Amino acid sequence: MAKLILNRLSKAFETGGRPAVNDVSLEVRDGGFLALLGPSGCGKTTVLRMIAGFEQPTDGSILLGDRVLADAGDMVAPEHRNMAMVFQSYALWPHMSVADNVGYPLKVRGVTGERCTAKIREALAAVRLEAYADRRPADLSGGQRQRVALARCLVTEPDVVLLDEPLANLDRHLRQEMEETFREFHARSGATMIYVTHDQAEAMALATDVAVMSEGRLLQVASPQEIYARPEGRLVGGLVGQGAIVTWPAASVENRQLDWDILQQLLSRSDGTECADILIRPQDVEIAGEGVPARVTSVLFEGERYALKLALGDEQVLRAFSRQPVQVGDMVSIVIRSAWRL
Ligand code: ADP
Ligand code: MG
Repeated sequence: MAKLILNRLSKAFETGGRPAVNDVSLEVRDGGFLALLGPSGCGKTTVLRMIAGFEQPTDGSILLGDRVLADAGDMVAPEHRNMAMVFQSYALWPHMSVADNVGYPLKVRGVTGERCTAKIREALAAVRLEAYADRRPADLSGGQRQRVALARCLVTEPDVVLLDEPLANLDRHLRQEMEETFREFHARSGATMIYVTHDQAEAMALATDVAVMSEGRLLQVASPQEIYARPEGRLVGGLVGQGAIVTWPAASVENRQLDWDILQQLLSRSDGTECADILIRPQDVEIAGEGVPARVTSVLFEGERYALKLALGDEQVLRAFSRQPVQVGDMVSIVIRSAWRL
C-alpha cells in the first residue's frame, strides 16, 4: 500500500461556474484515518467521488503511491483502484442474507468455496456480527446494517476505504456506539480511511487527521488536537469545538498563544492599532475574584455544569462554564487563562 495524494485537485461541474472543488492538495498516509470536515455543499462528496473514480477532475491529479489514478486527461476505472465506498444509505440487497451481502463483492471477483466463506466470517467478526450471518437486512437495526455495509467493504481488503457521512441516518446514541466500531474497524483492517462528515465532534473523535473544507477549498489539515488548539482563521475556529471569537486590538502582538497578562493589556487598549480575531474557549474562561467584570446574558444547565454567555464591555460575547448556579443579569469577575489569535 502507499499514501494517497491529491495534487491541486479541482472540479467544476459547469464551465465558468464556481468550482465545487477548488485547488485541493492533500496527502493521506498509508493506514491513516482522515476526516474531511465541512458544511453541507462545500465539496466533500465530490472529493470522495473523484478519489473513488466516479468523477473526473477538471484539474490536478490523484495518486496512490506513484501510481496515477486520475488527472484531467486520464482515469483509472473505479473497479481497478482497489477502493471501497460506504454510503449514508447502506445499499444492502434486501433479498440476500447478511453473509451473502458481505460475500457479494467476492462473488463478483470470482472468489468461491472455502476461501470465500472464511473471508466472510473474518469480515463479520471484524464488525462483531458473526451471529447474524443468516439474517436478512430487514431483521437488523440501523447500526447493525451499517456494520454489514462495513463488513462488505472490508471483505475485498481494499487499500482505501471511503465513507460518506455513514452515520447521518443514525440517532445520537447509536452514533457514539458506531464511532467505536469505526475506530476498531480502522485498527483491524489497516486500510487508509477517508471519512466525510459535517459533524465536527464526529470528525474529532474518530480521525487521526482532520481536513477542514469550505466552499470547495481546503482550509487546514492537522490532528484533531492541533485543529482545536491552533485553528487557522475564523472559519476553522468557528467550525471546530465551542468557543467565542472576539475582535481586539492585537495586531501588533507577536505570539498567537495569548496569556492573561497580554489579554489584560489588550482589554485596556483603545488606541488605533489594528484589530485581530481572537478565539477564546469556554474552559479557559475562569470565574475568579481578581479579573475583569462581565455580565451573564445566558445560562444553560447541562447537568454537570452551567454553560454561560457573558457580555464583556458593550458588544463582545464570551462563553464560559460554571459549576455554581448563576443567574442571567449577574455580574461576575473573569480571568481568561489562555486564548488563540486566529
Ligand atoms: P458536500 O458533500 O460537501 O455537501 P458536494 O460535493 O455534494 O458537497 O457538492 C459541492 C457542490 O457541487 C454543490 O454546490 C453541489 O450542488 C455541486 N454538485 C455536486 N454534484 C454535482 C453534479 N453532479 N452536477 C452539478 N453540480 C454538482
Ligand atoms: Mg455530501
